[in-house]
Amino acid sequence: KLYNLVQDLKGNIRVYCRVRPFLGGQPSHYSSVDNVEEGSISIITPSKYGKEGKKTFNFNRAFGPSATQGEVFADTQPLIRSVLDGYNVCIFAYGQTGSGKTFTMSGPDDLNEETIGVNYRALKDLFYLSEQRKDTISYEISVQMLEIYNEQVRDLLTTDGAKRLEIRNSSHNGINVPDASLVPVSCTSDVINLMNLGHKNRSVGSTAMNDHSSRSHSCLTVHVQGKNLTSGSTIRGSMHLVDLAGSERADKTEATGDRMKEAQHINKSLSALGDVISSLAQKNAHVPYRNSKLTQLLQDSLGGQAKTLMFVHISPEPEALGETLSTLKFAERVS
Ligand code: ADP
Ligand code: MG
Repeated sequence: KLYNLVQDLKGNIRVYCRVRPFLGGQPSHYSSVDNVEEGSISIITPSKYGKEGKKTFNFNRAFGPSATQGEVFADTQPLIRSVLDGYNVCIFAYGQTGSGKTFTMSGPDDLNEETIGVNYRALKDLFYLSEQRKDTISYEISVQMLEIYNEQVRDLLTTDGAKRLEIRNSSHNGINVPDASLVPVSCTSDVINLMNLGHKNRSVGSTAMNDHSSRSHSCLTVHVQGKNLTSGSTIRGSMHLVDLAGSERADKTEATGDRMKEAQHINKSLSALGDVISSLAQKNAHVPYRNSKLTQLLQDSLGGQAKTLMFVHISPEPEALGETLSTLKFAERVS
């Protein structure tokens, strides 16, 4: 009860933290994560004087390295269900490259029932619930998949992905990207096919897929329109599932030319996102949506009645401590 009350006061912004497990064969006794509780994480911080310190960060929910995809989704599910009631929902995956963003949102390369991520589970749920309600409400579900790279918006569901798209704000449609493909879907396999297409298009023109995907934001948007069969009224909801670019700061010695430009764009858009969410959390009168393409694109779905969930991801390795702490500071700022 109290928890729900606090949620309401905070204006529908939730922050969850997930710690990636050590990957195959790494010794786990060197983890920089000391303890994971239901709503907090403690980090071991070696002090300059050789004595270890501990710092605790609080979240709405924290998931340790052994949390399953199913457990993570169980806490996300209520948000997804509200899309069918006409809410706009944004789910973000934030963290340095390799911390598990794509794993949470999509899953690993070898997908199965157990390992599928939030994206697939969310869509599966939407189809299931819309089917259950079909005697009273008829739903149409369609999907868009966009990428933001160097502050340019690309359509991931077309072969003509080189085209740069404009974000428009019209009085009757709200924020929209008129030239982006909008594909009706009626079952999960439709969605899986589209995601595979998007994934393939994302790597076009880049030599290393992982490189590219860590330097761009990808946004899967699900539009839901429901028509009440008795009253004839319609409701609209949307869900943005965003796998953000890696939050790590560019290595100063290596970042030159194109790398430097990419890093600056990522930095700018992630801090713009942080500014928007923190000013919403503080209920500021002015919310600075216009400072990046990402926040412009999501303007309708951040603030107001919209619901936001930020998954911050951290890696357990001590080498990652610097980035881990800056990720946790970002999380503190937006919550
Ligand atoms: P990111 O998208 O943040 O760069 P990935 O999701 O690609 O990171 O994760 C990096 C690697 O760690 C991948 O091989 C992924 O399968 C693995 N991984 C990430 N999170 C988990 C997890 N919770 N359980 C098991 N493996 C994970
Ligand atoms: Mg990734």
